[in-house]
Parts: sequence; C-alpha cells; structure tokens
Amino acid sequence: MRIAVIPGDGIGPEVVHAALPALDLLNHELGLGLSYDVFGWGADEWLATGVGLPEGALDMLRSEYTAVFLGALGDPRVPDMAHGREILLGLRRGLDLYVNHRPNQLPDGLVDIYRENTQGLYVGVGGTVPQGGGVGVAVDQCVYTRQTVENFVRYCLDRIAAQGGRKVTLVHKANAVPHTGRLWQEVFREELSRHPGLTGTDEYVDAFCYHFVRTPMRYEAVLAPNLFGDIISDIGAALMGGLGLAASASICPETGFGLFEPVHGSAPDIAGTHRANPYAAVMTLVLLLDHLGHRAAAAALRDSLDQAARTDATTPDLGGNGSTEEFMVAVLDRLPMAI
Ligand code: ATP
Ligand code: MG
Repeated sequence: MRIAVIPGDGIGPEVVHAALPALDLLNHELGLGLSYDVFGWGADEWLATGVGLPEGALDMLRSEYTAVFLGALGDPRVPDMAHGREILLGLRRGLDLYVNHRPNQLPDGLVDIYRENTQGLYVGVGGTVPQGGGVGVAVDQCVYTRQTVENFVRYCLDRIAAQGGRKVTLVHKANAVPHTGRLWQEVFREELSRHPGLTGTDEYVDAFCYHFVRTPMRYEAVLAPNLFGDIISDIGAALMGGLGLAASASICPETGFGLFEPVHGSAPDIAGTHRANPYAAVMTLVLLLDHLGHRAAAAALRDSLDQAARTDATTPDLGGNGSTEEFMVAVLDRLPMAI
C-alpha cells in the first residue's frame, strides 16, 4: 500500500520527518508492505508557482495511494492561507472525505468525536446585499442532503458498534435550527434501530458544551454536523491538554481513502526552534496504521508514544525540556520492545 506524505509548512515538515522513522521501523520489523512518497505541496511552492494542489493530483492520489499523511498547512506570507485552503478543501471535497474522526484521549478515558466534514454551514451557499460601502444583509445557508447524513451516521454507528461501543450522542440544535436538526434526528433514530447494542441520546450543542467541559466522561462517542463538530473538536483538544497531542482522520467510507493529520496548525511562532511536539504527528500515524488494518503496529506505536510521554524528554508545551528530536529518540528507543 502506498501513502502520500505532504509535510506542508512551518512545523509540519519538522513533526512529519520526526515521525516517519517510526513508520520505517514498524514497516521493516513487521513487514507491513507500506511505501510512501513525499510531496512538497505548500506555501513555498504556492509562492513560486501560484499553484496549491497541482492539476491531476486528485486523480493520482485516487488511483495510486490509499492514504495521505499531512503535516500542517499555513504560512504568514500567504494571504488568508490561500494555498492551504486550496489543498485541504481540494483533498476533502475531491476525495469526498466526509467523516472526520478525532479520538480525544482524556485523563479518565477516551471520547471519540465524529464530525461531518463536507456539508452544513460550510457548503459556501449564500450571499450579501451591500449597504453603503459595506455589507447590509448576509446569508450563509446550512445545507444537508439525506444521503450524506445517512452515509455519515451509518458509517459512524457501524464503526462504534464494531469497536464494542455502547453509547452514542448526537449533537444538534433542533430547537433553533429546526430543518437540518430534524433531518439529523430522524436519520439518527432510524440508523440506531439497526444497532440494538447501542444506546443513542441527543443533546443541544450548548448543553453538550457545558457538560463536555465539566464531565467529559458522560460521553463515549459523539456525532455532530460540520460547524458544531468543528467547535466541539477544539474543546476536545483543549481537554486533552493541548494542540500538540491531538490527531485526526478524514475518511471516505466508500473508497476507504483516508487523510490523516495532526489537529494543530503550522505554528510559525515556534517553527525552526526544535520545540514542536511530534506527539500529535505520531498519534496521526497510529490512526493511519489502525485504518489500514495494521492493529498490532498501531498498538505498539501507541504504547511507546505514551511511555515516552511519561519521561522528561517531552517538549516544552508538555512541561518537559526535550526537543522534537529528543522526544522521538525516546519513542524510537521504546518501539522495538513494544512490538
Ligand atoms: P495555522 O494558521 O497553521 O493554524 P497557528 O498560528 O494557528 O497556525 P497552531 O498550530 O494552530 O498555530 O497552534 C497555535 C499555538 O499552539 C501555536 O502558537 C504553538 O505555539 C502551539 N502549538 C501548536 N502545535 C504545537 C506543537 N505540535 N508543539 C508545540 N506547540 C504547538
Ligand atoms: Mg490555527
């Protein structure tokens, strides 16, 4: 199987190149049969050529690769991160990666958040009516098709049930956003009836945020439409203890194609200082290996990562005094034993 590696900008290349030796080691020791190619798409290329995602890139990824491992995109020299949006949205929409999964490893347990990643308020349907020199009226439409909601909910529930999950919470705001809210509630109820082992509840997103911050272990798996999912995922990252820890997977259930990336951005403020925490990037590889069915490799990597995180080789954001490279030495030292 082939993986496309996109290191990207800022600390992206630093954490990606720090994490890849772990993949090399597992690949070699366990004979996983994985290979990868590195693509230099990002700010430098955009500034030189004006191109974010090269023509033919999507077709090439679709036909030759199974997954993308992405570092981060974003650069102060590029206005509004034009290249990053072009690349990320291009991949998300072009490869139809409508399920975004973020495991939140909290101090007392795991809460999985699943966010619909392509529709809702992010479809870009709307417009403005001018007033004076500015905006008088502004409209952003929230659009959901039954097909997308059904596919999303079905994939998530199947997956949660297959992993032995028992409780699922749908987050919505059907009292104030009634039309899409009703569609989500309806589909959620229907799909739940196929899973007698799962108990489903639904909560208004405001109440959910309150409870999630105060008592996160009320939740096991959470399903959310695009905007709410975006927001509650960042609350999850904060509860985990920082952006340096969180990883995410964007999946197309029909093709199995996945895009795996740390949740953090390019963090230009610390780029080049060797302070970037590679934990999230390594955790990203754990998700990738798991998705490709290499469960033992994923578990071993996870194990050595968590052991290393308990040493003082951690990076400054976690209170340690290690560099990106020193932390990875701690991970790689433990990996052969964990296999
Ligand atoms: P972008 O525009 O690409 O999202 P950003 O400036 O928003 O970049 P983020 O990467 O989102 O930066 O992170 C916000 C802050 O969190 C950064 O200023 C950085 O100091 C810190 N941070 C993010 N990721 C890491 C990491 N892996 N290790 C250490 N600190 C991090
Ligand atoms: Mg950011």
